[in-house]
Amino acid sequence: MQKLKIVPMPTAVAEGVRTTMKAPLYGFPAHRETATGRAPCRHCLKLIRTNDQELILFTYDAFHGQGEWPSPGPVYIHAETCQPYSGDGHLPEEYRGQPLTFEAFGKGRKRLGETTTCEAEGDAALQKVFQDSAVQYVHARSTTAGCYLFRVERDGR
Ligand SMILES: [Zn+2]
Repeated sequence: MQKLKIVPMPTAVAEGVRTTMKAPLYGFPAHRETATGRAPCRHCLKLIRTNDQELILFTYDAFHGQGEWPSPGPVYIHAETCQPYSGDGHLPEEYRGQPLTFEAFGKGRKRLGETTTCEAEGDAALQKVFQDSAVQYVHARSTTAGCYLFRVERDGR
């Protein structure tokens, strides 16, 4: 078993969007409304409660902070302050059993392939992806919606 780390959107990005109501980098207006469907927050990696909590929808570069050229797409965060995800390197609870796509990247953003998973063995699928020593990180996306969810890295500690 390799030790992995799940990396959420940086807190500074989430806070910046809540304050400015604009997408970082792009400046497009962000949209705030009460969640009406499955909407996972990219900061705490929990679901935004339907018909209860408010979300902010905005354009986000999945490669933010990685020093690579961008790949923007729509994401949600909680409209109110939430705690950044900090887990044990396993898939967050809200994503277990969900259809996920793991896009593997190597040095210089080289795309090394993708794996889709729809059963409860998401952690095992991740372990397998990271068996390739050329893989430096993985972007997890929703297979059904295609949206970026979080990054997975080897935990170097
Ligand atoms: Zn949140």
